[in-house]
Amino acid sequence: MSGLDESDRPADRFDSARRTVLQHDDGGTCLQCADGSCRQQAWAIEELKKHPGGLLLLQQLELLNPSNQPTQEGQPR
Ligand SMILES: [Zn+2]
Repeated sequence: MSGLDESDRPADRFDSARRTVLQHDDGGTCLQCADGSCRQQAWAIEELKKHPGGLLLLQQLELLNPSNQPTQEGQPR
């Protein structure tokens, strides 16, 4: 099927975001990379957070910030 070239489809954005984080996780860079920060990577992470599958991927790649983990010091194991 040719002629269908819609770039605004959510599935396409999700796939693009997924590729971006996978690329960066492999130690790769992109055109947006600069000095340890990357707007493309930041966008991809935000995009993946909107999808359950994306959240799972972020957890697997350990890209999620454990924001709701209270630091409890002095707690014996
Ligand atoms: Zn990048």
